Amino acid sequence: MSDLLIHDINELVICRSAQGYRRGAEQLNDLEVLHDAAVAIERGRIVEIGENSLLQSKYRQVRHKVSAGGRLVSPGLVDCHSHLVHAGSRHDEYDHIVTGRREPGKNLDRGILRSVRRTREATNEALEAQALKDLDTMLEHGSTTVEIKTGYGLDRANELRLLKLQTSLEHEVDLARTFLGAHILPDEYRHDREGYVQLVIDMLEGAREYAEFCDVCCDPVGFTYQECLRIAERAMDLGMNVKVHGDQTGPGRGAELAARVGATSVDHLDYISDEGVAELSVSECVGVLLPAVTLHLLEMTPSCLEGDWVDAKKSFMTALYRRLVNENLILAISADYNPGSSPTLSMQMTMQLAARLFRASYAEIWHMSTINAAKALGRSDQIGSVEPGKRADLIIWDVPEHGMVINRFGSNLVDTVVKGGRIVVRDGRKLREASL
Ligand SMILES: [Zn+2]
Repeated sequence: MSDLLIHDINELVICRSAQGYRRGAEQLNDLEVLHDAAVAIERGRIVEIGENSLLQSKYRQVRHKVSAGGRLVSPGLVDCHSHLVHAGSRHDEYDHIVTGRREPGKNLDRGILRSVRRTREATNEALEAQALKDLDTMLEHGSTTVEIKTGYGLDRANELRLLKLQTSLEHEVDLARTFLGAHILPDEYRHDREGYVQLVIDMLEGAREYAEFCDVCCDPVGFTYQECLRIAERAMDLGMNVKVHGDQTGPGRGAELAARVGATSVDHLDYISDEGVAELSVSECVGVLLPAVTLHLLEMTPSCLEGDWVDAKKSFMTALYRRLVNENLILAISADYNPGSSPTLSMQMTMQLAARLFRASYAEIWHMSTINAAKALGRSDQIGSVEPGKRADLIIWDVPEHGMVINRFGSNLVDTVVKGGRIVVRDGRKLREASL
């Protein structure tokens, strides 16, 4: 006997894949959509999908029925890269970026160190309250699984504090926890890189109790290939999976590192090398692209520096995206929520930006936000598609067709979120208590 039947679905976006991901233009563009559909759920899992009238009669005795009212139903969105727990806004810096008083992207590391200072000063209570509030917003915008990183502590006591705080967060959104001790070099170690790399390696033993992933920033503003390799190898010895921030501000051989160590994902990739493309194209490591960062840092917008207009710094991103699709990389997108380069909580808007900035197709975007994003967390056997056996994380959208979620922008199009078979958001607002 099923607990819940969602019926009268105009379009059911499925996003399944036998191998747990889709790669290459053909697979990414083959979006499976079931019209006039229903979904049966039992004990938090999907048990059957099919034709509306057929399932309505088969599950006549079901305990609860929810009508989608002729609208769109999709898998819950998976946001596979966020810096959720931090203190302070950096909107003041942004005015300087917008007006060209500071070159976009320059001094990214100084900005991160501001957030480190504020996060160290913040109380646990304040950090927790902000994180829970932000998770509410993410859920209301359709994210049902979110990855969260440390990386604003950057010393033993504060990184451990953030790991514990991440673990104690109680929220409907499923969390994948990551230790990012190797985010950037903290001020205290400005003249002792080796000392800090060794400290990160020493912290891993404690971190593995709390975090599933170890992330390393293999980028000119972060750490070198060799430094990241040492950290990643120790993390793997301890049984952790690896993620990489790679090649965001310049070539850092992050993609090569990720492919060689068998990382779960490598994120950013703006300056990926030809070698990195070749290695990822035959690996199962997911390349995660972050269009909200490209937008927010105005990297595809010409800027006015000291009176002279200069070309957009990353006008190549659209061509790079298409090349990565054609070269067969497994690709996902994420909002990369953080106070500096991407202060947005919305995966939905990230999907809308992928079309506008990267010229990604609707079908590509849906796969990159669901099944492939789940793969970027090593969870595509559990979430990321609507098929029997998967967790019942579903969205009823306030529009009838999947293209409308990407074509419209600027307002929240989520009506209902079903998390593990229970309704947690209704009319776009999180419920105080889950219903059903
Ligand atoms: Zn990041």
